[in-house]
Amino acid sequence: MDIADEVSWREHLADLIYMVIPPGEPKTRNRTQINFRCPFCGDSKKSFTKKRGFYYIPNESYHCFNCEINTSGLKLLKQMAPESVYSDALREFKAFRIRNLASSGSFRRQEEAEDIDRSLIQCRPIPAWKHLLDDPDKWEHPSALTPEQILYLEKRGVADKAFNFLSIRNKKDNIPFILIPWEYAGQCIFYQLHNYTGAEKYPKYLFPHSIDLNDQEKPVFNIDVVDPSWKYIIACEGVYDALSYKNGVSLGGRVLTEYQGKLLRERWPHHQIVAAFDNDQDGRKSMIKMCKDGRSNAKFLDIFPMFEHFNVKDANEFIQLGEKANSVLQDKKFLEKCMKSPFEMQVGLLLG
Ligand SMILES: [Zn+2]
Repeated sequence: MDIADEVSWREHLADLIYMVIPPGEPKTRNRTQINFRCPFCGDSKKSFTKKRGFYYIPNESYHCFNCEINTSGLKLLKQMAPESVYSDALREFKAFRIRNLASSGSFRRQEEAEDIDRSLIQCRPIPAWKHLLDDPDKWEHPSALTPEQILYLEKRGVADKAFNFLSIRNKKDNIPFILIPWEYAGQCIFYQLHNYTGAEKYPKYLFPHSIDLNDQEKPVFNIDVVDPSWKYIIACEGVYDALSYKNGVSLGGRVLTEYQGKLLRERWPHHQIVAAFDNDQDGRKSMIKMCKDGRSNAKFLDIFPMFEHFNVKDANEFIQLGEKANSVLQDKKFLEKCMKSPFEMQVGLLLG
């Protein structure tokens, strides 16, 4: 089938989800919602008519009012559908994203982007990697991820969250990179290249300024993928950590720049920023510094979660421990329990 636009993709995904609800179980569907028994927790054991799972068609998201799980439409389908149905849907979705990118340079519906005050980004060239493509001697046109790259992302536990990642190859040395778009309001406004094969000639990550093609101000990675109903945004150093957390974003380093602070405040004025840098001495010092600096010019910044109980370097290393670890970093209650004030953190550092 040919999925022409995002609306038809959403309808298609909703049809699939509706179709795989086990026969005989109660279900209802209207224009925006599908309501049925939660496939994750099994819903009520006493009542077989209770259905507390809600799939929201327009935002492709699922919530259960029994077990409180929040997840995406594709993950829900993965849980419910036979493997072949899920993998077909995944392939259709990827193809759709690539077509969508090729035609407009943006990943999401235009109407969605119109809701947001774009004044901060008007001067940004879109799509941001246009500059790369202006240099056809050096870089090939971006294309879909290769099987090898997908395998790599699977190993890091983020393959299903990396739908808009692409592949790009440097022509001169024939080295492949993973191209990671940074979007704001559905538009790609920045990017980074990941030297995932560890080619010696290049640093691990290349940003537009390090490729020396332009000097755009660095925005915030994953800023669109924030759950509005949970008031925290977890600010990480790297993109893989950001993808590992619920409401994770990446600053592309250990500093929250003024520009990034402005973007976050503008896009999510009621959210609280939580610093979650690497689980080492330097990371902790940077978090305290960020909170101190942040508080003078941005009231929203003051607490952060910690991995004191886990012997891992960062969130992405943590989720590679398995499915259980993965779900822990999506668990709002767990994350909130781990958060600390900068003061508590400083005392902890002094003591030990
Ligand atoms: Zn449930």
